[in-house]
Amino acid sequence: MSLNGAPEPRHVSVGVDVGGVTVGGGAPIVVQSMTNTDTADVEATTRQVADLSRAGSEIVRITVDRDEAAAAVPHIKERLLKMGVAAPLVGDFHYIGHTLLAEHPACAQALDKYRINPGNVGFKDKKDRQFSAIVETAIRHNKPVRIGANWGSLDQELLTHLMDANAKSAKPLEARAVLREAMVQSAILSGERAEEIGLPKNRIILSAKVSAVQDLIAVYAELARRCDYALHLGLTEAGMGSKGIVASSAAMGILLQNGIGDTIRVSLTPEPNGDRTIEVKVAQELLQTMGFRTFVPLVAACPGCGRTTSTTFQELARDIQDFIRDSMPEWKKRYPGVETLNVAVMGCIVNGPGESKHADIGISLPGTGEQPAAPVFIDGKKAVTLRGPTVAADFKAMVIDYIERRFGAGGAGRTAAE
Ligand code: SF4
Repeated sequence: MSLNGAPEPRHVSVGVDVGGVTVGGGAPIVVQSMTNTDTADVEATTRQVADLSRAGSEIVRITVDRDEAAAAVPHIKERLLKMGVAAPLVGDFHYIGHTLLAEHPACAQALDKYRINPGNVGFKDKKDRQFSAIVETAIRHNKPVRIGANWGSLDQELLTHLMDANAKSAKPLEARAVLREAMVQSAILSGERAEEIGLPKNRIILSAKVSAVQDLIAVYAELARRCDYALHLGLTEAGMGSKGIVASSAAMGILLQNGIGDTIRVSLTPEPNGDRTIEVKVAQELLQTMGFRTFVPLVAACPGCGRTTSTTFQELARDIQDFIRDSMPEWKKRYPGVETLNVAVMGCIVNGPGESKHADIGISLPGTGEQPAAPVFIDGKKAVTLRGPTVAADFKAMVIDYIERRFGAGGAGRTAAE
């Protein structure tokens, strides 16, 4: 990367229409997620899809693992449309996808994409037949397919074949390199097989998910080098909390910077009964902090240090961030372009005024021992100094006022955007 900060050119892929959302072909990188409800529970699944969609998931995947789940899919889709939730729905099939799709044509029609795993679509002579049956259903219903190879369910016949060939070669590779090669081949050969059956390339997305950062980078770099299928990116079994976030961001960040990845999913394990939408927020923040997309206004806040001995600064930074996130569904409609807003909440005079000047609107709170005054900067200029117990409320009001003036009807941001 040069000093002008441009990422590497994007991997050239063929764009795929997934229920009105384009994946690949130079389109903006799409955020997607997956439910963890029992799909047969129409109410719970509808609610979670709606939550994920409202949080910003542009495509949502649901498990279709048995008859009851397949039968529920058209009802879920219908309820979502009635609620005004148009996020494309993807069905996740393993082992018996061919049967479920054949016996539940309404499910096959309601879904916007099918995800199949070449490692468990069938075994031995059944494998080709069952894979073909799913692809033929996709052709009949005019649907795209994601062929998703996974480290944990890798095509064992292919792996055995590659391991045998490697053992006989003059310069055998390490077993891990053969595993990576098997992942790449499993995805690409399956994509080519789907094309032979008649599914065009613009209805095929590939993924090859592994659970270790270095493996993911190596596998996707190779996939991008060898094919022009649209690529779905994700670190599988990323884990819980900060570990899952860090591992996903490290792996996907490097690939995205190298132009690889047309859609991303962050596979976080939530806390029991935890908030499933966190994976959507993390995916959005990854894309936004890297400068690929803008979803919500960013709040820059310093980490705080020995100069910030009260909690006022942390409370204000958290309040502003939550306030902005919660207001976004409404703001998106009322204030076009508001997602590009930058807010700064800083803890003391050392970096506070400087960082606040770089933001559209920023506040520099007083550190320990400083005068109890908080200068506010707007568009790089000091606008006012806030004092007293209402500093937080006053600053929030100033943020709202700034948004109204810049992005509201007749505002400068709106005029520029239009
Ligand atoms: S801006 Fe001040 S409070 Fe914040 S980290 Fe820097 S020195 Fe500490």
